Amino acid sequence: MNYIVLDLEWNQPLSKEAPSYQKYGNYLTSEIIQFGAIKLDGSKKIIDSFRSVVAPKCYRKLHHHVKRLTSLTQRDVDAGLPFPVVVKRFRKWCGPEESYALLTWGYDDIPALGSNLVFYQQDISWLNPWYNLQVIFNDQEGQDANQKGLSSVIEYYHLQQNSQFHDALNDARYTAMIAARLDVEKGIQKYPSLVNPLILGVKGVAPPLETVRAQEIPNKKAIFMMPEFSEFHCPVCGGKISQNIQWVRQNGDKHLHLASCPQDGAFLLRLRILKGSGETFMAMRTAEKADEEIAAAYRVREAKELERAELLKLKKNAKTEEKQEIPS
Ligand SMILES: [Zn+2]
Repeated sequence: MNYIVLDLEWNQPLSKEAPSYQKYGNYLTSEIIQFGAIKLDGSKKIIDSFRSVVAPKCYRKLHHHVKRLTSLTQRDVDAGLPFPVVVKRFRKWCGPEESYALLTWGYDDIPALGSNLVFYQQDISWLNPWYNLQVIFNDQEGQDANQKGLSSVIEYYHLQQNSQFHDALNDARYTAMIAARLDVEKGIQKYPSLVNPLILGVKGVAPPLETVRAQEIPNKKAIFMMPEFSEFHCPVCGGKISQNIQWVRQNGDKHLHLASCPQDGAFLLRLRILKGSGETFMAMRTAEKADEEIAAAYRVREAKELERAELLKLKKNAKTEEKQEIPS
């Protein structure tokens, strides 16, 4: 079994007001501009490498942040290849699907690749399964579950940092160096018990069954009152299966809800709130099929959130009581 260590760099819209964002923002927000990959054999020896620059189609001007972070220039990406061409070459380079396992550093690359593939109406089945090496590192090196930057782990192993980070091939090579220090085979076996299935893409990358969007929303509170985000109809039979949805916070402005159709089973809804143009907000809600594992993880998350809300209420009450006790 080979290992393919993949790293990607992507561009972003110049601003929420940019015409390109108005046109494509609903479909794609992270446009891939560079592929870098290392092929390792079963003993984790480097046997090949892959590097390719993609010419962006939606966000053609490099964002200043991306320019500063990556080694890429506007001229590089202008001379890049179309995304479908690079994907075709990359897959050919990887070899037969059953001959390798896909490894990345972090949770972001594969879902980003998935959304670019969906945008170009390409097959995404080959992305599954994939493994975030950070999780295996955390487990085998007795680290906490927090995400670790690639450079900090290279430092942790006292490895030479002689090439620039945020170049897709360099980062893939650094990740491969980390892989060589871990028992990846054992990590892959244990992987399902190490990850939270609610994290996007962990249970496999698939286009959502349904996506609902709204823009120019004056405030966050209004989002939860809108029928698009407070009701849910089964995407299979059309029956109304949720109303007055009580969203469960996942983190930041990401929320979850589990809905169940008596005929068609359970669905995981994801609500994401983003800053829109000016002072407004935008919201996106997707629905995907949920299996027992996702449902169980959801119930754990929901219980935690309820506990947190309960604690907050207690604290608030205690404060009011304290105030009342102070003699005037
Ligand atoms: Zn249904």
